[in-house]
Amino acid sequence: MQYQSTRDSRLRVSASEAIVRGLAPQSGLFVPETFPQAYLNAWKHLSYPELAQKVLAGYLTDYRAEFLKQATESTYGAAFGGNAGRTVCVRDGVYALELWHGPTCAFKDYALQLMPKLLVEAKHNLGRKETTRILVATSGDTGKAALAGYAGLDGIEISVFYPNAGTSEIQRLQMVTQRGENVQVYAVEGNFDDAQTGVKRVFADASVAEELEKRDIRLSSANSINWGRLVPQIVYYFYAYFRLAEQSVIDWGAPVDFCVPTGNFGDILAGYYAKQMGLPVGKLICASNKNNVLTDFIRTGTYDARRTFYKTTSPSMDILISSNLERLLYHVSGSSEKVAGWMQELAQTGRYTVDPDTLARIQETFSAGFAGDEESAAEIRARFELDHYLCDTHTAVAFRVAETCRSGAPMVVLSTASPFKFPRDVLSALGITAPASDFDAMAVLTEATGQKAPKSLQELNSLPVRFTEVIAPDEIRAAALR
Ligand SMILES: *Cc1c(COP(=O)(O)O)cnc(C)c1O
Repeated sequence: MQYQSTRDSRLRVSASEAIVRGLAPQSGLFVPETFPQAYLNAWKHLSYPELAQKVLAGYLTDYRAEFLKQATESTYGAAFGGNAGRTVCVRDGVYALELWHGPTCAFKDYALQLMPKLLVEAKHNLGRKETTRILVATSGDTGKAALAGYAGLDGIEISVFYPNAGTSEIQRLQMVTQRGENVQVYAVEGNFDDAQTGVKRVFADASVAEELEKRDIRLSSANSINWGRLVPQIVYYFYAYFRLAEQSVIDWGAPVDFCVPTGNFGDILAGYYAKQMGLPVGKLICASNKNNVLTDFIRTGTYDARRTFYKTTSPSMDILISSNLERLLYHVSGSSEKVAGWMQELAQTGRYTVDPDTLARIQETFSAGFAGDEESAAEIRARFELDHYLCDTHTAVAFRVAETCRSGAPMVVLSTASPFKFPRDVLSALGITAPASDFDAMAVLTEATGQKAPKSLQELNSLPVRFTEVIAPDEIRAAALR
């Protein structure tokens, strides 16, 4: 299996090469040239790690089978408490695929616990010996998930930059208490954009690369546009489908709809890959918060990022440029010229409109809707009071949107974070006055719902803080060069 660039289909690289490089030339994204075939009957009884091995083997064809076996076992076994891909019935016909039983309590663990291993092995496959230095700008969840994934790996260093006072207390403590000799964490004065712009500038600065090369270090990113972050997410669509079939919720081969709380379009796009591989996926429903640029796009074919940016209670979905959409555009239009044109328009004018054929193809599989903060809060309360199901603010957006998009097929809502990661907003949604501190809020949430906070969040209060440095955005370059 070779990989092409969304902006130049003549380019061909191996899976290892795509993962080490991250981004193709001219900012293209690497995509597989075909969709490997799924073997549903042979796969339906596999454990999560075994299934992951099968799905990955179809895409990562230059990786050793023995490596994939070990990597998937060590990632999705004990580290997920035996709960990888857990699917529960919330109410008649509606299921939650709980993706937050990993070490950092958000779905990004599925990718970021595995991708570091894929990167180390890719370097090995390509005979590369240099040190890889990962730079991450984060608004919260990605930073911790990346730190947890890369900590302690040979030949890799990671530096994370988060906006000072821009994350929740829990998110900050998750990062600054991270253990490991190869990790660095910096607070950056300003907001997320300041941190992200600063890091992007370092990546674009040839003098940084030159300076680091003298020390045999190469920069890389843990960003969600890397193929190594997307491919692990395909697995849980299969796993959830098999669990519903096992419970006779569906007849074998009948379609299931999936509703996905969406930001950068990575998680939902993995569902598209599963469908292309042969999984009976009905509709993929793209759920957005008030930053509903994708809702408008999927309904009209016009992507218009020239709009107000809102800070919402589902911060991991506060995004106006959804990078992974480019991959879908490539697959449905089949034309890297068209994609390059649209992306250039987006960069220059802030908007583009796809042709009617492309839109029709997208709408065959995707529907879309959005929910504001009040609606998602009402949804948290309704699900808890009516169904005794407690969900976080991101998942609540998807539950709300799912309700407006029922086709008659069973609906699986991807539950992307533990409610205890956002305890204050969840408490307020339940109509309970939230204490100022996240930790007090966790305790109150346990009292109110009878559910226990994940241990990895509870213990944060007592872990030593290792990183306290606050830097200005223009000091990111120096930090990256240390
Ligand atoms: C990152 C994230 C999302 C959005 O996922 P994308 O792949 O960016 O669309 C949704 N919910 C939570 C909790 C997240 O951390």
